[in-house]
Amino acid sequence: MASIALHNIRKSYGNLPVIHGVDVDIQDGEFIVLVGPSGCGKSTLLRMIAGLETISGGRLSIGGRMVNDLPSKERDIAMVFQSYALYPHLTVAENMGFSLKLRGTAKDEIGHRVQSAAKTLALEPYLDRLPRLLSGGQRQRVAMGRAIVRDAKVFLFDEPLSNLDAKLRVAMRAEIKELHQRLKITTVYVTHDQTEAMTMADRIVVMRDGIVEQIGTPLEIYDRPATTFVAGFIGMPA
Ligand code: ADP
Ligand code: MG
Repeated sequence: MASIALHNIRKSYGNLPVIHGVDVDIQDGEFIVLVGPSGCGKSTLLRMIAGLETISGGRLSIGGRMVNDLPSKERDIAMVFQSYALYPHLTVAENMGFSLKLRGTAKDEIGHRVQSAAKTLALEPYLDRLPRLLSGGQRQRVAMGRAIVRDAKVFLFDEPLSNLDAKLRVAMRAEIKELHQRLKITTVYVTHDQTEAMTMADRIVVMRDGIVEQIGTPLEIYDRPATTFVAGFIGMPA
């Protein structure tokens, strides 16, 4: 159970306000894509959900529990970083189990969870390899594996595919979606790429300069853009 509710969420860096009161209700199991131009506040919003950035105003709830002041590690969320954030000197299995080891999870339990995640992600043949011997797509799957072994209730992605080539990006979109369909973990996925948003989202949140311009399914946003900004942004070539 992990719905996410943002109510009048605000953020200032010093005296500079960058998020001006955002309201979004995310259902349990939903795949939400936050989209908007560079600098509009997507990463800031995601990092507040993750607990990596303090919240200046408003209420944030995860699974019905107000979490404004709850430390990141107690939030049952996993941030999936880009594939280059893997530890280069650790094997795939060690990369996937690393956060559990830090938490003091028993070795057998770690092995069990890593095996199970590797099966889900078709990474079983690569568990003893170092990341540099993997393809870009396999590395991205290891990055997701690190989130899965933690049994997180929410996945947060911040432009995870932006350092991959175009062909791989399309393949990884499909993989991430397929994984979501199987695991049904509530997901907030940030991108500045409107094609990615249109093809992946259950619902899209279009942001501009720290506010939400529109929330809707890809079809609703495509058929009935609420503002000329949304119409222009969604219509732009990627
Ligand atoms: P996006 O992810 O949509 O590109 P960000 O959330 O990174 O946008 O940034 C939103 C705004 O906040 C930008 O104007 C950016 O310059 C500013 N900003 C982001 N992080 C910081 C920070 N740590 N200190 C000061 N300003 C920041
Ligand atoms: Mg960003």
